[in-house]
Amino acid sequence: MKFVGYDGGRIGVLHGEVVHDLSGLPGVEHRIWPPTAMLRFIKDFARYEAAAQNVVNTPGRSVDEVHLEAPLGWPNKVIAYPINYNAHGSEMNSPNRADRNGFFLKPSSALIGPSDSIVLPDIPGREFHHEIELAIVIGKQGRNIEPERAPSYIFGYSCLLDITLRGSEERVMRKAYDSFCPFGPAIVTADEVGNPGELGLRLSVNGELRQDGNTKDLILNVSRMVSLASRVSTLYPGDIIATGTPAGVGPIKPGDVVDCEIDRVGSMSLSVIQGSAGHNAIIGGD
Ligand code: MN
Repeated sequence: MKFVGYDGGRIGVLHGEVVHDLSGLPGVEHRIWPPTAMLRFIKDFARYEAAAQNVVNTPGRSVDEVHLEAPLGWPNKVIAYPINYNAHGSEMNSPNRADRNGFFLKPSSALIGPSDSIVLPDIPGREFHHEIELAIVIGKQGRNIEPERAPSYIFGYSCLLDITLRGSEERVMRKAYDSFCPFGPAIVTADEVGNPGELGLRLSVNGELRQDGNTKDLILNVSRMVSLASRVSTLYPGDIIATGTPAGVGPIKPGDVVDCEIDRVGSMSLSVIQGSAGHNAIIGGD
């Protein structure tokens, strides 16, 4: 099944090209703050699953008529593995690898959805790069999870862009700007995706193919990433793990259109626009 967020915190099932509303179900209503309906839906999925299967038999709305948001807006954390493909390490001339350096975090406030734009900070002369990544969505709470048990903790998968300001400043700060974590278009349940270790990932800018990788080349595979993260932090339903980007990263600039696609997971097309803020005492001067 595929689950989306839309129209101000609503959650729904995406069935074909139609979105069916789930936000009438008790516990996942949309007029709440923070917008955490999808977190509760995932946590109590066993309770909601039958309703989600039945709702596709009721009228819905065309996906083109709704404003798709990030399917999750307020996860407890977004864990991100840095260099997790050898070819990306080589292109960055970096000796770092995910199996030696572990993970970092991105703030939930950086999340945007497939209908939103990537807003570049006003920092002349600096490069902002695209990084397409398979996103894991955690399904249940866990700590010290063995790799063999990791699949049972995974709810599904989605597409994620880890937008990055290149430079020498603290990595988390360079990757933390608002809109620097496009996520979507839907969370596709793990049963529908199948083996996460053989998914092609492609990203193009203005129609030019820039990244063309496959998760078979991950250094730390999906189960090992879940296990390693859970040795440090308790994982909660809705936590996102960004699994690293394949080779081919490069700059984006205002006016660009970024198309990304992952086999069996989905695709998004995002525009890039110039923002007027973002420079500060550390980056770009104040
Ligand atoms: Mn990344």
